[in-house]
Amino acid sequence: MEPAPSATSAPADDRAVPLALRRDQAVRAAIGEGLVGDGRQPVAALLDLATVREAARALSAAFAEVSADGQQMLHTFAVKAGSLVPVLRLLDDCGIGAEVASPGELALARAAGVPASRTVLDSPAKTTSELREALDLGIALNADSPEELARLDDLVPRGAMDEHAIGVRINPQIGGGAIDAMSTATATSKFGVALRDGGAREWVVDAYRTRPWLTRLHCHVGSQGMALTDMAAGVRATYELAEEINTGLGRRQITVLDIGGGLPVDFTSDRISPTYADYARVLAAEVPGLFDGRYGLVTEFGRSLLAKAGVIVARVEYAKSAGGRPIAVTHAGAQVAVRTVFAPDAWPIRVAAYDAKGLPKDGPDVTQDVAGPCCFAGDLVAKGRDLPLLAAGDHAALLDTGAYYFSNPFGYNSLPRPGVHGFIAEGDAVRFRTIRAPQTLDDLVAESGGPHRDALL
Ligand SMILES: *Cc1c(COP(=O)(O)O)cnc(C)c1O
Repeated sequence: MEPAPSATSAPADDRAVPLALRRDQAVRAAIGEGLVGDGRQPVAALLDLATVREAARALSAAFAEVSADGQQMLHTFAVKAGSLVPVLRLLDDCGIGAEVASPGELALARAAGVPASRTVLDSPAKTTSELREALDLGIALNADSPEELARLDDLVPRGAMDEHAIGVRINPQIGGGAIDAMSTATATSKFGVALRDGGAREWVVDAYRTRPWLTRLHCHVGSQGMALTDMAAGVRATYELAEEINTGLGRRQITVLDIGGGLPVDFTSDRISPTYADYARVLAAEVPGLFDGRYGLVTEFGRSLLAKAGVIVARVEYAKSAGGRPIAVTHAGAQVAVRTVFAPDAWPIRVAAYDAKGLPKDGPDVTQDVAGPCCFAGDLVAKGRDLPLLAAGDHAALLDTGAYYFSNPFGYNSLPRPGVHGFIAEGDAVRFRTIRAPQTLDDLVAESGGPHRDALL
């Protein structure tokens, strides 16, 4: 059988072809098998396991290419980008650990079997009991503030020098990127110790002098919308501070640099750009000392590992028109695409049109809005978008939604969390694996105080 033409525009490079074709196959199969469509599941999310594995492979290969032989390297996945146990398990199987930022994320990583040695705890609001648990479990952690470090002073036993993997997160204050809410290295960011503030650098240097158990240094300068050279500038500032601390102390106390994540994703095409290899090369050029083998390295990528692998498929319930504008009313809106709906300029996504059977729709482009099911006017995933006219019974697919979309649902209008299904496309066949079952109405009632029905009488 000839593969159907892809529902999206011509792929920008060869690598993109299989991804788009696999996606078309999966959408069709999911509709054919009733994972989404007519029945009780009007929306579902699909995750291409081959794309996830390929991203993990590309990450490891890119850093291996530029690092010294035998250099210690730990890649972790920022759990907030895809907080689903089977996904964490898959990534662990690919050699990618977990970066967690809450007790819930730590519980997910542990449930997935991610070992403590491949887990890193970052969060600006760690409680004392979280800190104690992390130390007991032997997971690495990065303190976000002087106050947190003061708490650690009480928790880290005297003489326990090498047993713990503890660092401090710094904010190199290199400036923001294209998206304010995602820029973590602005002058006034809430994250880390602001390095350029008066006295801050001296404070950090002294903190390491008086605490021999501080052996790491951490930065994460932003997510999406940051230029590679800006990201590298943040890493360079971190590296230079580590060198200053180690030189000043006359010993190599800092042994590991955690350079965070933040690789942006191209949401306009099937292209993977920039690649991990692009970033690794920029880092090697801007911060050569990072890869000479003297430091172990930790990375914490999220979006770039999963975004391209995911697609949300929603049935078009009605197609209407208002003020001359066609509007497709679908079942995917703010509940699965929070950022796109509330910050559409910062987070535009591609929408592809499929027919009732899941075949890519053709026909002339018509400017239309693609709306979700939520009861507020702004619940649109695309506004004034040119694509084949969607009709009732068709399907709208939200592309590149593998990270920070279906895994971070928004509980509005008591819409149940849709099912998430992994898929493997082999030849003409597509096999699905349940990652998260669709939430049932009974679950939803229970979560919404159902068991406490009479509590207020
Ligand atoms: C969110 C976050 C990441 C991952 O960012 P991406 O843009 O998804 O790669 C990494 N580290 C920290 C500390 C984060 O908060």
